[in-house]
Amino acid sequence: MRKKVVAGNWKMNNTLVETKQLIKGLKKGLKGIKLKDTRVIIAPTYVNLHQAVKKTEKSKIEVAAQNVHQAKNGAFTGEISIDMLSDIGVNVVILGHSERRAYFNETDSALAEKVNTAIGKGFDVIFCFGEQLEDRQANNHFKVVEEQLKNALFALRSEAFKNIILAYEPVWAIGTGQTATAEEAQEMHEFIRGLLAKEYSKDMAEGVSILYGGSVKPKNAEEIFSKPDVDGGLIGGASLKAEDFSAIVKSI
Ligand code: PEP
Repeated sequence: MRKKVVAGNWKMNNTLVETKQLIKGLKKGLKGIKLKDTRVIIAPTYVNLHQAVKKTEKSKIEVAAQNVHQAKNGAFTGEISIDMLSDIGVNVVILGHSERRAYFNETDSALAEKVNTAIGKGFDVIFCFGEQLEDRQANNHFKVVEEQLKNALFALRSEAFKNIILAYEPVWAIGTGQTATAEEAQEMHEFIRGLLAKEYSKDMAEGVSILYGGSVKPKNAEEIFSKPDVDGGLIGGASLKAEDFSAIVKSI
């Protein structure tokens, strides 16, 4: 059975002190919630990852990085390698977030390399993709999503998807307060699972967790998560408040 996942992308927020406070609040908020088949993941900024790993050691909270460079090491000023992450106890990474694509020019082919690097080191990858508003308005959203997945992931062997969590994030819903309806999310997730089944196998497609991301809040999480092909969420803004994030985890 595929796992449920609730992941918080903290983006460029929280100092070290705030990171520790938020983790403390989360541990408290998650107390008493049964997490048997649910993974709870937080993605603080690079400089606070090591402390976040330490502070979550005896908890069910996993720590992810928000990006990684594709090369093993070398002259890439300002970048972080997979070995550096592994060395501090991180083994999950978010790749392909729309902000990385838009502001840092991450292309599908660079992402394919990053995914290979991460999977080669045994990491789990939360792979983000999704259409722009214009794509949806032009009814191109299925085509755009198919292209993103094909270009970055479909050269992988089926086995590799054991380490991949997909995160469908329509760009128009990220940080805007405008969520996709539960029906829109389900429609796209079903389409994505169908693509996996066509490209690989039905069995494989049934095993891949597909998260929805885009303005998920405590008040809409339950409805979105109730859909059969929605296996959890990637949460931005609401992951910065322990109370809200815990409430979202509770609704899965
Ligand atoms: C995100 O950035 O991945 C995200 C889903 O943000 P928000 O929840 O704030 O829309």
